[in-house]
Amino acid sequence: MPTKEVPPAVETVATLVPLKLLQPRPKELPGITYKITPTDQASLYITINDHVIDGIRKPFEIFINSKNIENYAWVVALTRVVSAIFRQGIDLTFLVEELSSVFDPRGGYWLPGGKYHASLVSEIGSCIEHHLIAIGLIKVDTTAVLRNKLIDKVAIICRKCQQKAVVVSGGCETCTACGYSKCE
Ligand SMILES: [Zn+2]
Repeated sequence: MPTKEVPPAVETVATLVPLKLLQPRPKELPGITYKITPTDQASLYITINDHVIDGIRKPFEIFINSKNIENYAWVVALTRVVSAIFRQGIDLTFLVEELSSVFDPRGGYWLPGGKYHASLVSEIGSCIEHHLIAIGLIKVDTTAVLRNKLIDKVAIICRKCQQKAVVVSGGCETCTACGYSKCE
C-alpha cells in the first residue's frame, strides 16, 4: 500500500521568516485616547499612538484599558496583534473591516445618537477607523456601508413594518427602520 510522503519538518521550519519591526519605537509618540461606553459594561479607554514621519502620522501601537477583568485575556491579545499589524505599515482598511464585522451572538447594542455596534470588538474596530480617518490614513464611509451589510445579515423581519431591520439591542428586539421595540 502506498504511503503518503510527509516532507521533513525541518524544511518547513526553515522557510519561516520572523516578523521584524519596521521602525524602532521612538521615546515619545503623540497619541489620542478615546473613551467607549458599551451599554452593559464599564467604559473602555483606547489609546492609539502614532509615529510621525515627515509630517505624516501612522498608527504605531494601541492600548486598551478595561476595568472588566472578564475582558482581560482577549483585550491583551487584541492590543498585541493590532499593534503588530500597525507596524507593518500596510493598508489598514482590512483590519477595520474584520473587527467591525465581529458580532456578538448575545446581540449588539445601540449608542446614543443612533449608531449600532454588533459587539464590543466591532466598536473597537469603529474606534480605530475613527482614528485612521482623523489622521487621514483612510477615507470615510467604509464602515457605514459595512454596518448596513451587517444589519442586513443579523436582522430579522419586523412584525410592524415588515422590513428586514430588527436587531437585538441591549437584549431587546428593536427595528432600525420604524423604531418598533418588543420591550416597550
Ligand atoms: Zn419596523
